[in-house]
Amino acid sequence: MCTPKLISRKTFLKAGLALAASPLLRYSPAFADAAEVSEVAPGVFVHQGRYEVQSPENRGDMSNASFVVGSEGVAVIDTSGSEVMGEELREAIRAVTNKPIKYVINTHMHPDHVFGNAAFKQDNPTYVGHYKLARALGTRAESYITASKEMMGKKVFEGSEIILPTLGIKEPTTLDLGDRTLLLEPQPTAHTDNDLIITDSKTNTLFLGDLLFSVHIPTLDGSIKGWLAVLDALGKRKAARVVPGHGPKSMEFPQALGPERQYLATVEKDVRQAIAEGKTLSEATKTAGFSEKDNWKLFDQYHIRNVTAAFAELEWE
Ligand SMILES: [Zn+2]
Repeated sequence: MCTPKLISRKTFLKAGLALAASPLLRYSPAFADAAEVSEVAPGVFVHQGRYEVQSPENRGDMSNASFVVGSEGVAVIDTSGSEVMGEELREAIRAVTNKPIKYVINTHMHPDHVFGNAAFKQDNPTYVGHYKLARALGTRAESYITASKEMMGKKVFEGSEIILPTLGIKEPTTLDLGDRTLLLEPQPTAHTDNDLIITDSKTNTLFLGDLLFSVHIPTLDGSIKGWLAVLDALGKRKAARVVPGHGPKSMEFPQALGPERQYLATVEKDVRQAIAEGKTLSEATKTAGFSEKDNWKLFDQYHIRNVTAAFAELEWE
């Protein structure tokens, strides 16, 4: 469901552009299109990223980005994969509310979740992340910038930058938005070593970042054993709905965890077996987890990398 406000703004902009036929207007940031968002619960808006890898066409729009509107201000949860996408998310927020953007929260370090941060500098928000996020981003900044620039093209990537959190979350922490609060909980190493989950108090909406993939194959950059353990713990919780890092805008919880748990458990089991049989990594990447192939988009792009990471972790058991 799009807000009527949003549709009318978009239509207005398109009509305006067509009439003016001015190339200057088209590229003015003040007239950036608003990202398409849906209100999945009262005051909770989600933009769904595409099931793709970075390209000039998708401009890094590959992960879900959300915002929560409170009586005193707005919190953004992930900012998409480029400054231009961050601008479009900001436009979507401004089409809904003029309240101050107080917090920009990153669920973890990956480029498709953080490179839109720069679009919010003008709001002077508190940038928030897991206490290990700053170190992780600092270490990877250069390679993330180089790779994203190469895949999206220099022009599309322009203005994107790594912005480190100014508030690092080490213990469960509450952020106040007036009539609602957000509970931020840092997780042990799973998808990455800096996964942060968020719960909106008012609607009991759980934001799992990339601890939850749906449709898009999970990508492993932390610990497969840790991730499965975190999923076990999460499965015992209650939430009205969950917003995954990749997948539909809103899903039933905890049922949404099922397919991902099956994928990770299958990879873990198959890799363990390959190691027990004395197989090499190269042999394992040809067989382990392939029973999951038809269950996921982007399997060819990420699966072998996942098996490789799992093998490196499990061979030292
Ligand atoms: Zn990720």
